[in-house]
Amino acid sequence: MKFTAEHEALRKTVRDFVEKEINPHCDEWEEAGEFPIHDIFKKLGNLGLLGIQKPEEYGGMGLDYSYNLVAAEELGTAHCGGVPLAIGVQTDMCTPAISRFGSDELKRTFLAPAIAGDMVGCIGVSEVAAGSDVAGMKTTAKQDGDDYVINGSKMWITNSPKADFICLLANTSDDKPHKNKSLIVVPMNTPGISFSPHLNKLGMRSSETAQIFFDDVRVPQRYRIGAEGTGFMMQMLQFQEERLWGAANVIKALEHCINKTIEYCRERKTFGQPLINNQVIHFRLAELQTEVEALRALTYQACELHIEGKDVTRLASMAKLKAGRLGREVTDSCLQYWGGNGYMWENPVSRAFRDVRLVSIGGGADEIMLGIICKMMGTLPGKQRD
Ligand SMILES: Cc1cc2nc3c(=O)[nH]c(=O)nc-3n(C[C@H](O)[C@H](O)[C@H](O)COP(=O)(O)OP(=O)(O)OC[C@H]3O[C@@H](n4cnc5c(N)ncnc54)[C@H](O)[C@@H]3O)c2cc1C
Repeated sequence: MKFTAEHEALRKTVRDFVEKEINPHCDEWEEAGEFPIHDIFKKLGNLGLLGIQKPEEYGGMGLDYSYNLVAAEELGTAHCGGVPLAIGVQTDMCTPAISRFGSDELKRTFLAPAIAGDMVGCIGVSEVAAGSDVAGMKTTAKQDGDDYVINGSKMWITNSPKADFICLLANTSDDKPHKNKSLIVVPMNTPGISFSPHLNKLGMRSSETAQIFFDDVRVPQRYRIGAEGTGFMMQMLQFQEERLWGAANVIKALEHCINKTIEYCRERKTFGQPLINNQVIHFRLAELQTEVEALRALTYQACELHIEGKDVTRLASMAKLKAGRLGREVTDSCLQYWGGNGYMWENPVSRAFRDVRLVSIGGGADEIMLGIICKMMGTLPGKQRD
């Protein structure tokens, strides 16, 4: 990956934004379980940071995915995972399908305001009984005149309590599970939508997460993205960007953990020696930094191929898997060297330990990534038939 002066300028813009607008407030927002999402998104929109890769016609910068990667990586310098997660949902999870397959009306009504920071979006795929098994979801959108009438619910939806629209995956026919789904953009102020109380999460505390209920929610059929029955395919494509974003976003967060731990271990003395002088510790931290560089190389490689228009399902799944696994390893090892201080709720490494845990679960759990990789390696057994 060859970064230009333009990449570096964008990197600096994102980093300055994180340092000025996010980091001074992280503790307060984590405690509150929310942050002023419309305010922050408007500021990001004013800087163009919500539409880096989106078409210029709708207010985006029209740049390639390498710029998105730089922004995702730099957002990892935030001192909490929740705010970057909320931003990633907007840029790489709920808008790629609208941008790629949506009608001009959808793009003008939802994409342009999302890029400008005037609307907050969310993505509704998971359900109480269908997270990993996306094909098994039950929410329906039935045709009625020119409308769809939506019934069902979506679980663990990030940004949903304050969102202006949801990019919703729903069953629009009784066809086979991979052919009966459509992505539909639903304004969140539509009658019939209600929410659970905020879900009480282990980490990502500053992001808001809730269950959404749809009770005879009526939207025009023209709010469907692309052709009916192609939603599963579009969502699988959208997942590639979500997974690349997730991997890129973790890199600097893990480096921050390692660097904070080095700082602490230089100061903290046991048996008359700084902790860092123990070979077991400085070797371990060197090993972890090496692994982070390997994750960076894998993520960059996947991004390069994605920019070339190649199918990156295999590499994006590997990057997401590695990010989840390594995230757990780095934060767990670092927390150990902080001893009792590491076990305290407010400790930066303890926060990262809780936040990063999501990476192995959300957007396709580690085992789902392994299943995809096996499928592409030709080692996944097919269903046995007599
Ligand atoms: C904080 C948070 C934010 C989220 N935000 C969103 C969002 O904005 N939008 C959205 O749609 N979803 C969101 N999710 C949902 C998330 O994507 C799902 O939780 C995830 O896909 C896993 O689904 P599940 O929880 O139903 O786990 P299950 O499908 O019940 O699986 C449980 C565990 O079993 C294992 N497993 C599952 N299948 C297999 C298998 N075939 N082989 C071996 N092991 C397996 C995995 O370890 C998995 O973690 C969010 C979740 C959280 C916690």
